[in-house]
Amino acid sequence: MPVIKILGGAREVGRSAILIESNNKEKIMLDYGVRFKEEDRLPEKTNLDNLKAVALTHCHVDHSGALPLLYKNSNLPFYTNPLSLRISEILLKDMIKISRYPYPFGYKELDKLRQSAKFLKIGNRKKISDDFHITFYDAGHIPGSVSILVEVDGKKIFYTGDMNSQSTNLINPAKSSDIPEIDVLITESTYALKEHPPRDETEKEIVDRIVNIIENEGNVLIPAFGVARSQEVLLVLNKYNLKIPIYLDGLARKICMVYSEFPNAFKDFSMLKKAIKNTQFAKSRNRMSIIEKGKNIIISPSGMLKGGAAVDYVSKMIKDPASAIYLVGYQVEGTPGRKLLDEGIFEFEERGYSKSTNSKALCEVDYFDFSSHADKSNLYEYIKEIKFNNSRYVFCVHGDEKSTTSLASNLNKEDYNAIAPEPGESYAI
Ligand SMILES: [Zn+2]
Ligand SMILES: [Zn+2]
Repeated sequence: MPVIKILGGAREVGRSAILIESNNKEKIMLDYGVRFKEEDRLPEKTNLDNLKAVALTHCHVDHSGALPLLYKNSNLPFYTNPLSLRISEILLKDMIKISRYPYPFGYKELDKLRQSAKFLKIGNRKKISDDFHITFYDAGHIPGSVSILVEVDGKKIFYTGDMNSQSTNLINPAKSSDIPEIDVLITESTYALKEHPPRDETEKEIVDRIVNIIENEGNVLIPAFGVARSQEVLLVLNKYNLKIPIYLDGLARKICMVYSEFPNAFKDFSMLKKAIKNTQFAKSRNRMSIIEKGKNIIISPSGMLKGGAAVDYVSKMIKDPASAIYLVGYQVEGTPGRKLLDEGIFEFEERGYSKSTNSKALCEVDYFDFSSHADKSNLYEYIKEIKFNNSRYVFCVHGDEKSTTSLASNLNKEDYNAIAPEPGESYAI
């Protein structure tokens, strides 16, 4: 029987890594990410002899961050697509450059990773070793994201990766009706306990609130992750035809340039191109004047205000009661964004500011839910549409303890064999 070993992303969001071993002891890895908490940021250690390939669902570093570690002494085939490769490279370079954590790899391994890339199109079934076939499916999470079907020893294992079955402005949703009959599902559980508000209402509300701030001569800063979230927000603003200058800063600019080369990765590429055309790219020397002029919208990483250009804007806006900071991504506990949202206090830690200066926000601060993961109802609906062979095995991963265990126990009430595995556990299926 093939064996599934969960090396990370078990009862946590971070360091997603799944090892699958065939009867003949051939192995493949699905994702190999890092986490940003605790001492050890890498997936659990295990014997990787006879590893035949690694396949990546998407570029986010909780899925891709540890990949270079697999390239210390090997040229392992790396299955991905051109867009995910390009963005992974940008994010990994950045991670290696700015991290104070001593990752046991560097640019040399990252280079080898790039050279080992093999591109696979959605829906193309590919034999990747004697025992393994894989097929990519649209995951609807961010541009380029895929779910992976693994066929081994007569079993079909489907790994969702990060998944969104709800439509966004940027890309098409994941459709479980596309998936063939499977034996095992490995599903993300990020929002297994939470519903997102209807997207169109969220869009309308943020636009109304922005218009109000601008009418009162203030600025609006939208701190957003540079990959996908910034561009999604840009599309929302463009859809409402706002006659307000929009500036894009930091990594978000670079990602826009990369996206411009991949027309097929988007739901409406001409809309994206138009939105980018209607946007001005901000440079660090212009930041002050953009704020002083007023009546501008600035979209800038980092999304949780841990650094990046957004922090520069915060320092210039935080004492202005006419302006607003609208967060559009989940704010992890312990981040400056979370503190600002919960306590109305911003803690400047960046170089150039005296260490940890607290600043009370006089500007408006709020959060709008633009998640790129399926919410509770979507997740259950998605799983229930999947056709299973007899076993109905479901592994609930990529969610905190409560989310993964509650998804598993609810599915067990409905005739599934579901489990929320712990890190390092192996299952013969
Ligand atoms: Zn992701
Ligand atoms: Zn993830």
